[in-house]
Amino acid sequence: MARRLAQLAKIPVTELTGVGPKKADSLALMEIETVLDLVTHYPRRYLDRTQQATIRDLKVGDEAMVLATVKRVQSRRTRQRRALVEIDVFDGTSYLKCTFFNQPWRAKQLAVGREAIFFGKVELYKGRRQMTNPVVDLVGNKTGKIIPVYPQSEKAGLTSWDFEPLVNEALERAGEFADPLPEEWRDRLDVVDRSWAFRQIHMPDSMAAAQAARKRLVVDVLVRLQVPLVMRKRAVERESKGIRHVVDGELVERFHAALPFPLTGAQRRAIGEIGVDLAGPHPMHRLLQGDVGSGKTIVAVTTLLMAVQGGYQGALMAPTEVLAEQHELGVRDLVRDLSVPDSGAQATLSGDRPLNVALLTNRTTAKERERLQDGLADGSVDILIGTHALIEEAVMFKSLGAIVIDEQHRFGVEQRAALRGKGDDPDVLVMTATPIPRTAAMTVYGDLDVTVLDELPPGRTPVETRWVRGELESAEAFRRVEEEVAAGRQAYVVCPLVEESERVQAKSATEEFERLGGEVWPTLRLGLLHGQMPSKDKENVMTSFRNGDLDVLVATTVIEVGVDVPNATVMLVEDAVRFGIAQLHQLRGRVGRGAARSWCYLLGEATTPDAEERLKALERTTDGFELAEVDLDIRGEGTVLGTRQKGRSDLKLASLRRDREWVSRARQVAFDIVDSDPALRHHDVLADEVRLLIDDEDAEFLFKS
Ligand code: ADP
Ligand code: MG
Repeated sequence: MARRLAQLAKIPVTELTGVGPKKADSLALMEIETVLDLVTHYPRRYLDRTQQATIRDLKVGDEAMVLATVKRVQSRRTRQRRALVEIDVFDGTSYLKCTFFNQPWRAKQLAVGREAIFFGKVELYKGRRQMTNPVVDLVGNKTGKIIPVYPQSEKAGLTSWDFEPLVNEALERAGEFADPLPEEWRDRLDVVDRSWAFRQIHMPDSMAAAQAARKRLVVDVLVRLQVPLVMRKRAVERESKGIRHVVDGELVERFHAALPFPLTGAQRRAIGEIGVDLAGPHPMHRLLQGDVGSGKTIVAVTTLLMAVQGGYQGALMAPTEVLAEQHELGVRDLVRDLSVPDSGAQATLSGDRPLNVALLTNRTTAKERERLQDGLADGSVDILIGTHALIEEAVMFKSLGAIVIDEQHRFGVEQRAALRGKGDDPDVLVMTATPIPRTAAMTVYGDLDVTVLDELPPGRTPVETRWVRGELESAEAFRRVEEEVAAGRQAYVVCPLVEESERVQAKSATEEFERLGGEVWPTLRLGLLHGQMPSKDKENVMTSFRNGDLDVLVATTVIEVGVDVPNATVMLVEDAVRFGIAQLHQLRGRVGRGAARSWCYLLGEATTPDAEERLKALERTTDGFELAEVDLDIRGEGTVLGTRQKGRSDLKLASLRRDREWVSRARQVAFDIVDSDPALRHHDVLADEVRLLIDDEDAEFLFKS
């Protein structure tokens, strides 16, 4: 009978004849403990012997493969007592030097007269071409033209060549693989069957076969990542009865008509998608991704009003007080002239009362709170905006119909659930201004629907970004602040991120504030903002800055999100190499919010190649999605996916970058399968593999129906 992955996961490597206790220990160091681990220990690349080069033609910097004979061997130790083996090889056209560190056994393996394949990068050392630690393949013991190169481990003492026989034995043990994709699906996706794929990825007949094998296994990985996400989404939809909101109504129409600008195409599209969700029978769980300044607030307010116009209440939760207060000001201003039907005491002659927006944070006084709670309970508060204070037990709504959560990644699952619990399956829109690539979003937020605001309102001048390296250039940045202030504009100075501790950051910001105010800009009006200040002081500083009573705001990254002062035109980030791409992009988003030209200066020398790449990317583009792709390139999947995704070890084969197209196709497959067979009763091989990826609690939830 065909074997399932779960069965292979139960066969320890020690059952293989090629694995004794010692080898088992080595393998364990590489987290290879079962036959499944071995067969999924995929080659990193292949040596294609048909692509052999001659030494004479090698150029420095090339990755190349040559077939050559060992002519001279020298073995010694470096000053740090590391084993060093140097050999000279000759292929009839020219000589090449190969240097091996920490591989003393190479001296014996590569004795004079031995013929071998050497694969590596050609470097120049003391005027000679050489390869350092090349991959070596002894000719003679292999017949294939395409040779797999496996991830190896110095620590475990396992080289690529140790794996070949082990993997072969493991494949033999495995026999036929059960295929989770029915034939019909394989045809539709144009992928090969699984048994063939596992054999060919390890022992390919050709490079094309290796590619086809990889593609099939990538599809497997991506499908089994998507299936539980899609199952979760469908299960939640099945279990909850949402509110069918009446989304086409006067209130929303009046709101849009009163805006001083037309909606962007992206906003209209987003509102359309949200409208369909709200009108539908299931509660919405949608993620709104939009770059800084893309106009998410309008979409958020529209969402809340769609609920309010049917007599429900709306709530907007933000991660910080500054942000919540800012939202309240903004939203209050946006809905200023709107009214809702009312028969109560506040009603005017027409039977209407003004739409009521309220704010709740930890700063709200006990007395205000009491009044607020009455208003929430009798329905006279239409929209409540606030921080975590919203999820406190005492907060009770009459009928909460829609929720917007801003900067959702700053809230935990429980906090979001707690807010949801204040209504009867209200619709939920979560927003983020930290774009992540579409494929990553499908994986990280695969249980949500995703809407992207991929268009900025017209008429913005992109912020000019300069990476400022030396004294001279930073003088220019400081001068720019002075000039802009002289022209009536305002500026931000973001202080270096000394360490993660809020307290230490506050201290460094305070010192910088004093230094700037003392020596650098004694005549300018400076304000200080950091996370450790009492809320009242924070609020005062923000109000002064907003009102133009301060010229320069010296701050920590507390201003990263949401702060909206269109008159600010310069952002100066000190020691910018310490920040990540997303963070710098957010900080930059604080300027360029009005019609005036704006600048962002990133100060500091790059300390690593990655830092250099980050700062260059920020200089090059203001497109948050493009930056997100760069970030994914630099940091790799693991970091972007964080801990949320259990299947990420599965991503050693598939890449969210390289296999973009397949991520969406796999998602479609997952939807088709789950929608035709919600508990995977007729897809038991697939169900088995999904169970391997998720924990018991998840499994119980997903498979119970
Ligand atoms: P985000 O929260 O996505 O960063 P905001 O909602 O704060 O963006 O909007 C940024 C600015 O753009 C605000 O000043 C807002 O009034 C303005 N804005 C929003 N939508 C439009 C539009 N369709 N046309 C012109 N300006 C817009
Ligand atoms: Mg916003």
